[in-house]
Formats: sequence, structure tokens, C-alpha cells
Amino acid sequence: MTPDQGIKVTILGSGSSPGCPVIACDCPVCTSGDPRNQRTRASIMLTFPGGQHVVFDTATEFRLQMVREKVHNIEHVIYTHTHSDHCHGFDDLRAFFFRSREPISVHATREHLDDLRTRFSYAFQNTGYHGTKPRMNIHEITPGVPFKIFGIDVEPAAVSHGDTNTTVFKVGTFVYATDFKAIPNELIEKWRGKIHTIVASGLRMETHPTHSSLPETVDVIKKIQVKQGVITHLGHEIDYQTVSATLPPNIRLAFDGLSVVCPLVL
Ligand SMILES: [Zn+2]
Ligand SMILES: [Zn+2]
Ligand SMILES: [Zn+2]
Repeated sequence: MTPDQGIKVTILGSGSSPGCPVIACDCPVCTSGDPRNQRTRASIMLTFPGGQHVVFDTATEFRLQMVREKVHNIEHVIYTHTHSDHCHGFDDLRAFFFRSREPISVHATREHLDDLRTRFSYAFQNTGYHGTKPRMNIHEITPGVPFKIFGIDVEPAAVSHGDTNTTVFKVGTFVYATDFKAIPNELIEKWRGKIHTIVASGLRMETHPTHSSLPETVDVIKKIQVKQGVITHLGHEIDYQTVSATLPPNIRLAFDGLSVVCPLVL
């Protein structure tokens, strides 16, 4: 069901880089019977009022996510960064070319496009035969320079994430920010009071050298003063039910398949 005056935001995957359950882990969350603790790698999809789809990243389980959500078309893929958990589903983009015979628009910064070319060199070489690789129109993103998708402004910004930058995106009144160590104050000021819905990463309760922790992300969401916040990219330290009970009423944890609606204007 597509909302007439809003963007539907679907959590395709809510997990951190190992996913959950983690291979060979017998911890209470990995062995829990709660399906909300079963997390594929982090990705979201926006459904626009016309039924068009934009996905952020092609996570490791991209194929399973597309099958689960019964997605028949993707018009744009926007990469936050190219750590393995965010791009290793890349090859399955070809399924959409087989169906539509239209190339998919792929957006990433120069740094991340260079990395995609290294990781998936076969897809960027002209072999004259397109049957075995994704067909793409490449768009280079420059942080700080907005672009439009389906008439809506997309504003990318670069934030630090350890050995790479990650790109966070404001799309109308929505923000997707994953895999950041911290959101700079200038960005918080810029977004404050203008965001209806944010989906932001919050790995675990304890601090981490390259990721924002869950309490740090709650703090950022409070400062931006959003209507609704969803915390994603969750590690196996986070039990859905236990941690959910501790959150403020307008902030919730993501789970695979969760969808929320964000209005086009506040
Ligand atoms: Zn990640
Ligand atoms: Zn575990
Ligand atoms: Zn990352």
C-alpha cells in the first residue's frame, strides 16, 4: 500500500555486519525465538507515491530482502558506503534489468564508486554482453550538493566512519544515517525541527571506535527533534524486547520488514 502524501520507509535489514544470529554464536539473542532478533544486513527501501522504489545499499541478503518484500521494480540505488555488509548483494541488481530492460541509476560518492569498481570490476567492463552483470547508470554524489529524485530534494552529507566516510541522506523530511561514529553539530543544527522520520544506526549499548552506540544515537535523535526515530544496524548484544522497553515513546528499534510512513512535508 503506497501512501498518497508520504514516503513509505521499509527496513529491509536491521542487522550489523555479521547479521543476527551470528555464525556459531550461542548467546541469548542469537538463539532467541523472537523473529525481531533475526536480522539481515542493514538496508532500507523508500517507496514513493508513484510506486517507484529507491534502495539504500545492496546488503548481503539483498536477494532475500527483495523476494520477502515482493519488490518488482527498483529505479535508484544509493550507496551510503561500500563496507561489505552494505554492498555485497550488488550482483542481484541484474534481476531488475532482466525484468525492466532499463538500467538502474546508481548513486555514490567518488570514493565509494572507486571501491565498487574494484570490488565488482566485471560489472564496469564493457564486454558487449550484458546477461551476467548489472546494468547501471552511474551518478557521482558530491557531499553537500543536493540532487533530485522524483521531484524530491536529496541532500547528501559526509560523516566519519573509521577508515572511510559514510554518506548520510536527507530526503524531504526523512533522514537515513547509518554507519557513522558521530553526527557533526552543524548537521544536527541544519536538520533540527525539519525531520519527521529518521532511521539511524546504533550498534550496541557500549561505545565502539567507528560506530555510534545506541545511547549516543538516542541522544542525536533527541537533539534533532524528530517525530519518529528508528534505530537500526543492531548487533547481537541488542535484544529487541528488552531494549525497546527502555526507549522514549517516539524512538523504536528496527526489525526486518518494519515499515513506517514519512510525510512529504512537515
Ligand atoms: Zn555496516
Ligand atoms: Zn550472539
Ligand atoms: Zn560500515
